[in-house]
Amino acid sequence: MSPVLAAFIFAFGASMGSFLNASVYRLRVGENILSGRSHCPNCGHRLGALDLVPALSWLMLRGRCRYCRKEISPQYLMVELAVGLVYVWSALSVLDGSQYIDQMTVARLVYFWFVGSLLTVVFLYDLKYMLILPKLVVPAGLLAAAANLALGIPWTSLLLAVALGAGFFALQFVLSKGRWIGGGDIYLGGFMGAALGPSKLLLALFIAYVSGAIIGSTLIAMRHKGWRSEIPFGTFLSLATLVALLWGDGVLAWYSGLTGLAL
Ligand SMILES: [Zn+2]
Repeated sequence: MSPVLAAFIFAFGASMGSFLNASVYRLRVGENILSGRSHCPNCGHRLGALDLVPALSWLMLRGRCRYCRKEISPQYLMVELAVGLVYVWSALSVLDGSQYIDQMTVARLVYFWFVGSLLTVVFLYDLKYMLILPKLVVPAGLLAAAANLALGIPWTSLLLAVALGAGFFALQFVLSKGRWIGGGDIYLGGFMGAALGPSKLLLALFIAYVSGAIIGSTLIAMRHKGWRSEIPFGTFLSLATLVALLWGDGVLAWYSGLTGLAL
């Protein structure tokens, strides 16, 4: 991929990151995601084009509102940069070294961007508010399933993956009477199945539990008690889903070669 194209995709992704940041806030306070101009949550001043340039505005204003000088969370900068990277990473993953771009490549890329964007919102929302929104995850899961059907994944394996993902968390929810995980994880599990298919779903669950165990035991070792209530599991699940989406094919191919198992 040419550096110019990569820079263009990065800028596009960073703009989407800005939109996703605003969406998390608007979902929380009950505003419509798609309508209305952005405004400062502190002074209410409408933000102009100069205030809304992804990453650059935050850096030039040194993390403060232009009008009331109230600090703006570095979350905005970090999410814009991260989504820019995810969009470039998606393009690299979909193109896989090829220079040839056809309709299927574009369709897969748009699909990756859609799933990556949804996961960004789930990640942030769960991290900030300890909640996974079914009204967001369920329609997104239906869209992901429809997209995967159109991209040629058999409906039987999609159905299996959704049942596995939702059932895995439903079982834990029932066994623990809702103490280990929240009800939102069941919906997120279903979304993961619809977005990833069965093999990459298992990979994502594996990554989420291993990274959760490592970070959890590190926090406990550092005497941050009760980390489970500090870091919601949906943040691990959404990160693991993103990794499985972008790297899953490579990891599974490597694993098949290593073990001779077809996945
Ligand atoms: Zn302000």
